[in-house]
Amino acid sequence: MRLLVVEDEEKIASFVRKGLQEQGFAVDTLARGDEALLALVNQPYDAAILDIFLPGRDGLSVLRAVRRRGIHLPVLLLTARGELYERVEGLESGADDYLPKPFAMEELVARVRALLRRTAGVGLSLYQVGDLTLNLVSRVAVRRERKIELTGREFSLLELLMRSPGKVFTRTEICEHVWNFHFDPGTNLVDVYIQKLRKKVDEGESPRLIQTVRGIGYKIEVSA
Ligand code: CA
Repeated sequence: MRLLVVEDEEKIASFVRKGLQEQGFAVDTLARGDEALLALVNQPYDAAILDIFLPGRDGLSVLRAVRRRGIHLPVLLLTARGELYERVEGLESGADDYLPKPFAMEELVARVRALLRRTAGVGLSLYQVGDLTLNLVSRVAVRRERKIELTGREFSLLELLMRSPGKVFTRTEICEHVWNFHFDPGTNLVDVYIQKLRKKVDEGESPRLIQTVRGIGYKIEVSA
């Protein structure tokens, strides 16, 4: 995850950079608004932390210019304490969140993580394995151009497998996720549903995607 921190007060910038780097983020810092705009337009950042009062171009104007160009990365604004007007204006300009100065590093990290989670959730509405896609919003599976009708359980099972292609799920894990059973129901429930799903997804198709890993469980993968 690569972040851009735009802050002209050197002490704050280096405190923020160090704190975020310690949490495993790759961090670039800039002190000028005009340079920040250039960087955000030309480089793929996952999120930006933007001060408002900056030399070159102020943070709100940078934010508006970024949004006008259709760039949707999450932006956290750093605002002066208690300045309601700034916060309202910031949110109206397209900020996703704001944090009043001074702030604790833990809080900044928590806010950044929350922003990244939120946007990841929005973007990820389609799973794909080989020529099989599963749309999580319309809940429709398609193999090549063939639409596959799924029951609720079959959808949950396929969603689980497709969320982590290549990962082997045990019957117990599948039971927990799909039926919310935290015990072994002592039946071949999972195997029965895998067979139903295979019939719909793999019958007459090549390659077969749903695979049995003997003695362990099941996975979905395009086999080599
Ligand atoms: Ca400043």
